[in-house]
Amino acid sequence: MANYDVIVVGGGNAAFCAALAATEAGAKVVVLEAASEDESGGNSRFTAGAMRVVYNGVDDIKTLVPDLSQQEIDTTDFGTYTQDQFYDDMARVTQYRTDPNLCELLVTRSFDTLNWMRQKGIRFVPIYGRQAFKIEGKFKFWGGLTIESVGGGPGLVDMLTAAAKKNGIEVRYETRATDLVMDGGRVVGVKIRENGKLSELMGKSVVLACGGFEANTEWRTRYLGPGWDLAKVRGSRFNTGEGIRMALAIGASPYGNWSGCHAVGWEMNAPEFGDLAVGDQFQKHSYPFAIMVNATGKRFVDEGADFRNYTYAKYGRVILEQPGQFAWQIFDQKVKHLQRDEYNIRQITKVTAGTIEELAAKLDGVNADAFVKEIAAYNKAVKQDIAFNPNIKDGRKTEGLAINKSNWANTIDKPPYEGYAVTCGVTFTFGGLRITNEGQVVNLDYNPIPGLYAAGELVGGIFYFNYPGGTGLTSGSVFGRIAGGSAGRAARG
Ligand SMILES: Cc1cc2nc3c(=O)[nH]c(=O)nc-3n(C[C@H](O)[C@H](O)[C@H](O)COP(=O)(O)OP(=O)(O)OC[C@H]3O[C@@H](n4cnc5c(N)ncnc54)[C@H](O)[C@@H]3O)c2cc1C
Repeated sequence: MANYDVIVVGGGNAAFCAALAATEAGAKVVVLEAASEDESGGNSRFTAGAMRVVYNGVDDIKTLVPDLSQQEIDTTDFGTYTQDQFYDDMARVTQYRTDPNLCELLVTRSFDTLNWMRQKGIRFVPIYGRQAFKIEGKFKFWGGLTIESVGGGPGLVDMLTAAAKKNGIEVRYETRATDLVMDGGRVVGVKIRENGKLSELMGKSVVLACGGFEANTEWRTRYLGPGWDLAKVRGSRFNTGEGIRMALAIGASPYGNWSGCHAVGWEMNAPEFGDLAVGDQFQKHSYPFAIMVNATGKRFVDEGADFRNYTYAKYGRVILEQPGQFAWQIFDQKVKHLQRDEYNIRQITKVTAGTIEELAAKLDGVNADAFVKEIAAYNKAVKQDIAFNPNIKDGRKTEGLAINKSNWANTIDKPPYEGYAVTCGVTFTFGGLRITNEGQVVNLDYNPIPGLYAAGELVGGIFYFNYPGGTGLTSGSVFGRIAGGSAGRAARG
């Protein structure tokens, strides 16, 4: 006898979107969240709430943000982010590995899904602070990322939780799913540990939306490789790969980039897991306007290869590969005003100096002589005849260096100079489960497993090597809605 029509495992964005869609199909739904209410919401709560979505101009933005003021419209160039642009970004950053079916769903359903969320009570605003710089009195958005949820990640989870409650969805906190319950070849429920007690919950369909394995040191080392045990976890400590493990245990098919993950430059002395009081502010994402050096005093990556959105998710791995797993970001006063707000927090490893030599002596762990030489060589290599413009890929580059900087290269010569220490922060893992276009998990013969659906980080096949910023939440929403709707209809049918 089923207690519920649909059991959703997880309490983040993908889970709530699945729960809301299942309810729409007439199902009685429960959400199981391993964390306490205070720590609930998974990685979704840690985000800025930035969501990548297709739009064809300001009218589409107005649909998502109905209270956009005339003044905002007059002073902003929103541009467009067409389906073709989203496809191009996904194809390019994943080196053409993204699953064509899943990518098509992600791209073509993004706008419709955010509108659906808006109708459920989720509110959005343009990301003026981070994704648009004001030039000659007008904001211009760049990088295809224009919308964020009101109140960032915490706001998103609070609005989703309120929508769930309004729709009669039960949310059980401190309730960890430990295994799937089978009847023949069909999933008919989950084993749970609730407040320390073991029991079973029966349901006609189960949606797994309980994250990747980024918070599991052993799995990170096993699948991402040696050294990944040393990375900091940017978000929830609850995403330990349990949903993937449960599904594989009943014969589900693994899929995607199991050795790949999203990882960024992250405050060197940040704690082992994310801290909700700081959120995503440990990240240090203004490096396209700076340079980064490692312990040898040398640059090791093209900081200006592309807009921040298209490089930040792969540069964490590059930092992890440096000696001692750290780097210093170096700024001077010419670009100081371009630093994102995360450079102003108290929990930061920062040094300031009046000269390059003085700075060199303050950069812990760095070969000072080599650093001073590196800056001199770098300054000489900057093509100063090309105009600097942070809103476009300006082509203001260096020439003749072992590793050139392709855009936004500026000499470092206006003191005081600043250095910020970063290490690798892992965000989420890319490998996971194989699903159908209806969000159903398939077995090793690629046949759908009756009663089992999946959404969010634990779906494999979408991201490989890299990731266009703001796509994780959109993916969770699109596939959460699909999986929840399918699970709800199957349970009611
Ligand atoms: C610091 C940071 C900033 C980010 N910024 C952005 C951004 O601005 N835009 C963007 O698109 N993406 C961003 N991301 C990525 C984004 O957070 C994820 O892609 C997205 O939130 C994943 O949603 P999800 O619902 O799949 O997982 P989550 O939101 O992580 O939810 C998983 C849930 O499952 C629960 N759980 C785990 N195991 C169990 C179990 N056994 N039983 C029951 N519950 C369980 C967890 O407690 C959690 O509630 C960011 C991530 C981090 C860490």
